[in-house]
Amino acid sequence: MKTKILIAMVLALMLLSFSAAASMLIPASDKAKENAKAPEHSPVISVTDSGEWELERVDFIHYAKPSSAAKPPKTDTCYKLMGVTWPSLPVSYAVNPSNPDGLTEEFVTSTFAASAETWDAATSAELFNDAYTVDYTAQYGVQNYENAVAFGAYPDSNVIAVTSVWYTRRGKQIVEFDMLFNTGFSWGDASVDPSLMDFQNIAVHELGHSVGLADLYTASCTAVTMYGYSGEGETSKRSLEQPDVTGLQKMYGA
Ligand SMILES: [Zn+2]
Repeated sequence: MKTKILIAMVLALMLLSFSAAASMLIPASDKAKENAKAPEHSPVISVTDSGEWELERVDFIHYAKPSSAAKPPKTDTCYKLMGVTWPSLPVSYAVNPSNPDGLTEEFVTSTFAASAETWDAATSAELFNDAYTVDYTAQYGVQNYENAVAFGAYPDSNVIAVTSVWYTRRGKQIVEFDMLFNTGFSWGDASVDPSLMDFQNIAVHELGHSVGLADLYTASCTAVTMYGYSGEGETSKRSLEQPDVTGLQKMYGA
């Protein structure tokens, strides 16, 4: 069996001088914790007041863990809204194709665009801008109103990817997302080489965070795209399940 991995998502909110942060960690290779409804599964939010603007940041971090048998979505309740949405659409983004795995710019950008289109096609709204920017200077984690997608090293080798979302604390309006794909993993097309972490598989999941969906960790929701764990060779998250679509449409329309 392939090693199961959690996908990470960081949610951050920022408007002038406010800031809050939270993170959730799930240890790898810890069977006992696999099904635990651990508090670390939930976003932790911290807020700091320092003026008229408020910043909130929530981090969802996913770790590697043992695999378990996937089950079909038990009910249509297998989705969780973060409570924040984009006030204006479509969402544009910049992709930094630099990576240590030899993936071409064409592969990275076209795969990511296809991942965005997967969500876009599930709602009547024009969710993501079909036109994206290729920016070799785009960085993860910089709050600059540019939605950046990049590969990079993450301190914890068990973390597959992290998505950060900044939003206005008061209005719950998303103002930016950044996404990091941990170079501690070997990325590529797992349908060709199952030993790889599938870029499209993880991108679709992370993009769910970028529009306002949170992770699911319950055993009955293991088959949905927003389920919080993944691993090498997994490609099932490339396509959305009905609960993922239901959650999206709750926010942006059917
Ligand atoms: Zn996630």
